[in-house]
Amino acid sequence: MRNPLQLVLDFLSPPQEPAPSSVRKARPTFTSSPISSLSPTNQASGLGNPTSAANSATAVSGEIAIAHPRANRETVLEGMRVAYLFQRVRRRSIGFVVGPDGLEVRAPKWVTLKEVEMGLQERGEWVLRKWAELQERQKNIRQIEWREGASLDYLGEPIHLHLSPQNGRSELNDQRQLLLALPHSVEASQIRDAVQAWLMREAKVLFEQRLNHFAPLMGVQWRRLSLSNAGSRWGSARVDGAIRLNWRLIHLKPEAIDYVVVHELAHLHEMNHSPAFWKVVADILPDHLERRKALQKENLANWA
Ligand SMILES: [Zn+2]
Repeated sequence: MRNPLQLVLDFLSPPQEPAPSSVRKARPTFTSSPISSLSPTNQASGLGNPTSAANSATAVSGEIAIAHPRANRETVLEGMRVAYLFQRVRRRSIGFVVGPDGLEVRAPKWVTLKEVEMGLQERGEWVLRKWAELQERQKNIRQIEWREGASLDYLGEPIHLHLSPQNGRSELNDQRQLLLALPHSVEASQIRDAVQAWLMREAKVLFEQRLNHFAPLMGVQWRRLSLSNAGSRWGSARVDGAIRLNWRLIHLKPEAIDYVVVHELAHLHEMNHSPAFWKVVADILPDHLERRKALQKENLANWA
């Protein structure tokens, strides 16, 4: 695979001569690209035709691996059918974007479809990898269903919601059922409010306990804990010792919670992310890098 910078530079300079010939000179390997070799029928008939690459997609059997809802062109990348949205725009180079809808390609008017196709082939592996990463992240989205029997994670393990009108207050039993002191006729939003209130209470108790555990080990003193619900923020710390922690951390494993607690306490030593700061963290949690990586895969905003 060529250097992506080189790829961009190629497209930055408008072709002086007719595009197909200059392209073929620069890239003699194009005619034996994966597309041609994947579809022998097209290899015979389609070579030299600027749209052969797109047409050849039909020769590849199987479902479309990436299908943009507004797709207007199709290609084959690394043997996978990809239907993408192609747009002509005023810009200086070809833009490739892999988003939740799929692949979008934007190109200036002077770039030929063949050049677009070559750009795609060069980035085939990148496109598929980005898409796989997006799918993986999508899997981590956990939309909680607020109803009897639904499950959600508590300290990294699933618990199940159970309406229990006879209960005086909500509590977790030893079968990992969260017994909610609510009548069977409640609406989803009331279940959500009751569960979130319970989670927040649990979060407050646990976070305080962990702060009290780590603060003396780190030689710091925290003063006030408040719970936040910021979409992407795990926590914050102020010089005066006030700590804010995202209550949705309660969904995650204790190791993840401890990492955030230690991180915020370390800020009471160092109000930055300098090497000195990370040393304070590492002294307490030598495996903080792995914990942080695991945490980055979680998206708290998705716990809605
Ligand atoms: Zn920080």
